[in-house]
Amino acid sequence: MANTLTTESGAVVADNQNSQTAGPGGPVLLQDQHLIEKLARFNRERIPERVVHAVGSGARGWFEVTNPELSRYTRMGMMSEAGKLTEAFARFSTVAGSKGAPDAVRDPRGFAVKFYTEDGNWDLAGNNTPIFFIRDPLKFPDFIHSQKYDPYTNQQEADNVWDFFSQSPEATHQFTWLFGDRGIPASYRHMNGYGSHTFQWVNDAGERHWVKFHFKTDQGIHCLTSDQADVVAGANPQAFQQDLREAIDRGAFPSWTLYVQLMPEADAADYAIDPFDLTKVWPHADYPLVEVGRLVLDRNPDNYFAEVEQSAFDPGHMVPGIGPSPDRMLQGRLFAYGDAHRYRLGVNHTRLPVNAPKGVSGGARNYGRDSAMRFDYNGGRWPNYEPNSRGGPAEDGPAAYEGLPVTGVSGQFDPAVREVDDFTQAGALYRLMCSGERRRLVENIANGLSEVMLDGVVERSIDHFRRADHEYGARVEMAVKDKRRKREQL
Ligand code: NDP
Repeated sequence: MANTLTTESGAVVADNQNSQTAGPGGPVLLQDQHLIEKLARFNRERIPERVVHAVGSGARGWFEVTNPELSRYTRMGMMSEAGKLTEAFARFSTVAGSKGAPDAVRDPRGFAVKFYTEDGNWDLAGNNTPIFFIRDPLKFPDFIHSQKYDPYTNQQEADNVWDFFSQSPEATHQFTWLFGDRGIPASYRHMNGYGSHTFQWVNDAGERHWVKFHFKTDQGIHCLTSDQADVVAGANPQAFQQDLREAIDRGAFPSWTLYVQLMPEADAADYAIDPFDLTKVWPHADYPLVEVGRLVLDRNPDNYFAEVEQSAFDPGHMVPGIGPSPDRMLQGRLFAYGDAHRYRLGVNHTRLPVNAPKGVSGGARNYGRDSAMRFDYNGGRWPNYEPNSRGGPAEDGPAAYEGLPVTGVSGQFDPAVREVDDFTQAGALYRLMCSGERRRLVENIANGLSEVMLDGVVERSIDHFRRADHEYGARVEMAVKDKRRKREQL
């Protein structure tokens, strides 16, 4: 019967309430296959959580191109004409918390979108900030360790967070962003998203532009203060998850307008800012936003684990017309994301329904075979090597993007090809804030910094803020002293 409970092997379960026992009052029997299988399966329900971005929510939707001129810049098929629709899946997340941690915390948010294009999946695995804390992937594990749980106390420690910051001046811009109002969005719907990295767009003629992506929320930016967030996080750890799901359920589909900043290739050499430095933005006055299209999320996943937990975004998943830049963080992520998914989900994660390139007729075609959980046809009788004389898939088409010109000898070099300025843009951001936001920014920083016990960390950190803007540093210094004095008086 269609609705009869079965074991994993399909046999009918006659009793799902009582384990087999030796007599009515006796011990449980090892021969109870249904019990053993049920418990063993339950024990294995969890897969490794993401080391970063573990707490997340996802939704399905589509992307519509609104700009008819994009083929001047890119040969991406999905951008070829206004009105073109591409199916999409988006996942939003916090960064530092482990599974179960609340949504409403001060933390950057992941803003990852998978576009199921006819030329393969394009994953734009960005954040809700246009910049990042560091510019070299060699520092990433140390940075994340400083944000996550301390090996002794098993909780986030102000000493670690600020010790790392005080010795990483390039984080001043992102710390200013994070401790400002936008550091705690009111929901996933009320925040912008950014590709953050610089990518390359290449058109049919092989001309290249450097490109940055900006998703602007159509719901408007709404944020929570630290005090408001404490209340929301305490009352409902999954507040953002619930907000997103309920909005879609009631037909209030969240949407974002996608813009790009476009830099002609030749500009990069002389531009005042290193255009491949992830700690910097390109000022809009230099490179204005150009509208691209609209992302709309209109369907909730039916099953969180299958669709959201198993979704895997990889900055290396690009399609013809878009490619990498020399941004070191992007180059590091081109390796690290796929590697994380191979560890977390296995090498066949790209075949899972949420990750498979469903826009491509017939799906992925290559000679990768076997390994754990290969649940599809595995290539059947087709040859598993290439080249072959049996009509198997063969290479075709032009290169997906243009190669990067390189010179010099290999080695470990200072990050930027021009003078490094870690403070000017942080100061510009401070000065862009209204007086109320500046006050909250200083207060938020001082709350954490005043808890630091390690020698030198507070002084070095304040110096970073002072170099961004003298008033900014002076106010943080005063607020830290004030908080420490009040604490001593208690
Ligand atoms: P613009 O005045 O042209 O743009 C300011 C940008 O800052 C807008 O994108 C705006 O986003 C955003 N913004 C406004 N208020 C805040 C805030 N309180 N916290 C974070 N972002 C905010 O200036 P510039 O392009 O010259 O950039 C100046 C500074 O603005 C930069 O140093 C950078 O920190 C920040 N910024 C710049 C972006 C860029 O790509 N150029 C993007 C985001 C921030 P919105 O329009 O959505 O309100």
